[in-house]
Amino acid sequence: MNIHEYQAKELLKSFGVAVSKGVAVLDAKDAEAAAKSLPGPLYVVKAQIHAGGRGKGRFKEASAGDKGGVRLAKSPAEAASFARQMLGATLVTKQTGAAGKQVNRIYIEDGSDIARELYLSALIDRATARVTFIVSTEGGMNIEEVAAETPEKIVRIAIDPATGFMPHHGRRIAKALALDGDLGKQCGKLIGQLYKAFVDKDMALLEVNPLIVTKAGALHVLDAKIGFDDNAIFRHAEIAALRDETEENEYERKAKEFDLSYVKLDGSIGCMVNGAGLAMSTMDIIKHYGAEPANFLDVGGGATKEKVTEAFKIITSDPHVKGILVNIFGGIMRCDVIAEGIIAAVNTVGLKVPLVVRLEGTNVELGKKILAESGLAITPADDLEDAAQKIVKAVG
Ligand code: GDP
Ligand code: MG
Repeated sequence: MNIHEYQAKELLKSFGVAVSKGVAVLDAKDAEAAAKSLPGPLYVVKAQIHAGGRGKGRFKEASAGDKGGVRLAKSPAEAASFARQMLGATLVTKQTGAAGKQVNRIYIEDGSDIARELYLSALIDRATARVTFIVSTEGGMNIEEVAAETPEKIVRIAIDPATGFMPHHGRRIAKALALDGDLGKQCGKLIGQLYKAFVDKDMALLEVNPLIVTKAGALHVLDAKIGFDDNAIFRHAEIAALRDETEENEYERKAKEFDLSYVKLDGSIGCMVNGAGLAMSTMDIIKHYGAEPANFLDVGGGATKEKVTEAFKIITSDPHVKGILVNIFGGIMRCDVIAEGIIAAVNTVGLKVPLVVRLEGTNVELGKKILAESGLAITPADDLEDAAQKIVKAVG
């Protein structure tokens, strides 16, 4: 789960991290008062979307100006006018895809005088199973290019969970960022705060780009992006409350509601499978026969009729789906129950595309019989290979 920049900054602030003063604005009429409450004389107006690269992004609407989603303003009135232009407009950045994202929230921040822009992030490195800080002196808006062209300028420092954050970690990171003297001390303190926030809140990713040195010599978090481990959200009601559902994929949101593991993909064959391993092999075999899956969907080992129906609704509401492959192994669940679930789903949702069903396991003969006698246009398949070939052929 991701949150907005302003929410991330508020969270980091509660761990003692230095961030700019700012006000989130959801309604254009509040923009001027929000800007006026800040000290000035420089104001930053920032589009809040769950995607980076806003500064270099461009709005689809000409009325939103041609300056991107992060703009500097010299007066509260100018800040308010930028906020009005951006609210409701669609921002396209490197991370949003061509469709862009509609801006529904704005953050107006006290402007900083920047001396240096640094890069800092933390994530769990799967290879070492440790929280790892990734830092670079080359912060700002081009970190992807730095990673591609001068990877030696990116330094990784892992933290052993047995010791947690230690002063030497802070010193090493400060050295990698060329921060010495008082700035080095500030860096050590900041890393300790960020590490604690990361672990306490079960983050999956924390990215500060840029981390700045101000002209007054302070280390300061200027941008913040945080993603949390979905499997740990249940431990943090205060984090769950920050969810902005308008930023999430509509199908993935519905799937979450019904406890289905669903990931939207780009292909044309909708898949309904039980068990993550079987779902993966189903996707593989579809690709093997020359087509692409439209989704990963695991209805789980103990899927009920209701869950099967919901899964079906999600698959059929995706306009890219040109055919559906149901591949279920009746282990804990019986095939006759699954067959009834499929029929109920087709009866509620309707069926406008070819449907191939492969059942295997407990009561498989009865399950097949129920499907055959349903009178619905369901193509039965004998095994995984047969099923994949049939659906790929049906989709063309
Ligand atoms: P992103 O483009 O989505 O990563 O948004 P950022 O928050 O990182 O802002 C993009 C760029 O805008 C930064 O790299 C800065 O160069 C600039 N910027 C953001 N806030 C300020 C500020 O307070 N003062 C100044 N001078 N520039 C800023
Ligand atoms: Mg940034």
